[in-house]
Amino acid sequence: MRILVTGGAGFIGGHLTEAFVAEGNDVTVLDNFEPFYDLGIKRRTVERCRAVAADSEGSYELIEGDVRDSDLVSDLVCDAEAVVHQAAQAGVRTSVDEPREVTDINLGGLVNVLESAARSETRRVILASSSSVYGKPQSLPYTEEHQTEPVSPYGVTKLAGEHYARVYNELHGLPTVCLRYFTVYGPRMRPNMAISNFVSRCYNGEPPVIYGDGSQTRDFTYVDDIVDANRSLLATDAADGGVLNVGSSDNISIRELAVAVRDQLAPELDIVYEEPRQADAEHTHASVEKAQEAIGYEPSRSIEEGVREFIDWYDENREWYEPLVRSS
Ligand code: NAD
Repeated sequence: MRILVTGGAGFIGGHLTEAFVAEGNDVTVLDNFEPFYDLGIKRRTVERCRAVAADSEGSYELIEGDVRDSDLVSDLVCDAEAVVHQAAQAGVRTSVDEPREVTDINLGGLVNVLESAARSETRRVILASSSSVYGKPQSLPYTEEHQTEPVSPYGVTKLAGEHYARVYNELHGLPTVCLRYFTVYGPRMRPNMAISNFVSRCYNGEPPVIYGDGSQTRDFTYVDDIVDANRSLLATDAADGGVLNVGSSDNISIRELAVAVRDQLAPELDIVYEEPRQADAEHTHASVEKAQEAIGYEPSRSIEEGVREFIDWYDENREWYEPLVRSS
């Protein structure tokens, strides 16, 4: 299959691309290498995907460009049978500081993808949405029917994106599916997320930092499960026009998580507590029943197993987080 992965140099997009290429698909990545975090991880991800392509029946092409460039997006979407749209400014806090820019990327880019796909032969568009659409829990775990009341501009862009997808499905018959990812982790994860941050700080002899009292809970999803959900959806129309939660269907408090990582890696360190961050969700916890029914989705790891795996990976691959040395 010819697949366009937007944001394919990023954490999740990189894993998706690698898996699709390894399975023999022809993948084009559109990514503008936005410097939200160190670009070394993205450049290494590209090299890794190229290496996988060299050893598989699949192919890999990187286009450095912006998803807000409608002509470019139109050309790329026309050539693809499926689009897996990951490109976004993914930081909740950035969205508080720079809401215009984030809205421009997250919604402007999305509309370019949908508009182009509606006018071509695209068989399916899978969109990365987020548990941030829920915002305030009235009951947990969240089912897809739970009220949506995002507490950050980022969450608002993701919720609006879901509505755009539904409207394009209804108006143009475009097969769209939105996946509400719950906090994703695993190899190559963004360095500014809790698990990678706790692990790298403990390795460097620095105390893990918790924002708030650590009682906030998160459903952490191993990145392989996100890949499985996307892969399944490329092959079925079972969820077209709708949204699915993709989580682990469990949750853990940030304090428990920090303590577990600290106890394993650097028991001598104290945990530092700082002011809570604005617009952070209090609790997330996914019901995955709908995804189970639609695509046979099953979370593959407990948080304990997943964190252990991440630590093992980090131990052997710390260079992924080192800045790239550039020759001038
Ligand atoms: P990421 O920042 O690692 O990946 C996003 C990629 O998009 C980056 O490589 C970036 O360079 C690219 N990008 C940003 N703006 C772009 C633009 N204007 N044009 C082209 N490319 C652009 O983030 P991620 O964690 O891999 O997230 C991927 C998707 O999943 C995002 O849509 C995010 O909102 C969503 N999501 C992530 C999580 C999570 O826990 N990581 C949770 C819920 C939803």
